[in-house]
Amino acid sequence: MGLGSDMYRQQILDHYKNPRNYGELEDPTFTHVGENPMCGDEIRMDVKLDTDEDGRERIERVAFSGDGCAISQASASMLSSDLTGKTVDELLEMDRDDVVDMLGVDISPMRIKCAVLAEKVAQDGAEIYRGKLEKNKTTTED
Ligand code: ZN
Repeated sequence: MGLGSDMYRQQILDHYKNPRNYGELEDPTFTHVGENPMCGDEIRMDVKLDTDEDGRERIERVAFSGDGCAISQASASMLSSDLTGKTVDELLEMDRDDVVDMLGVDISPMRIKCAVLAEKVAQDGAEIYRGKLEKNKTTTED
């Protein structure tokens, strides 16, 4: 482990202890919840959309709440900041590599489900909002 990795570890701990955008939105465009039963992680994402001047749906605000391990909660905190200003299409194009890059540390296969939970919740929420998916709850089991 080099110094770079230590820096990222510090960043993960900082997001875990001082989560950004923690809470719930008063008037979210969509809300979705998910869990990672393997670890006991739970995430709720509230997303407020706005339409930009080109008619694209853009993420105006994100709030998350939840409970779980440092990786899952830090990932949700970082993602909530990262998503602000992105279009819904950009959100849907994200994959697990984007989350791993964002966290900046090697994620073991066991912990990858912790890392991607928030991203899955946000993406499934967006697809349900667009009527492309029917789901009560996202789980990393599928
Ligand atoms: Zn976890």
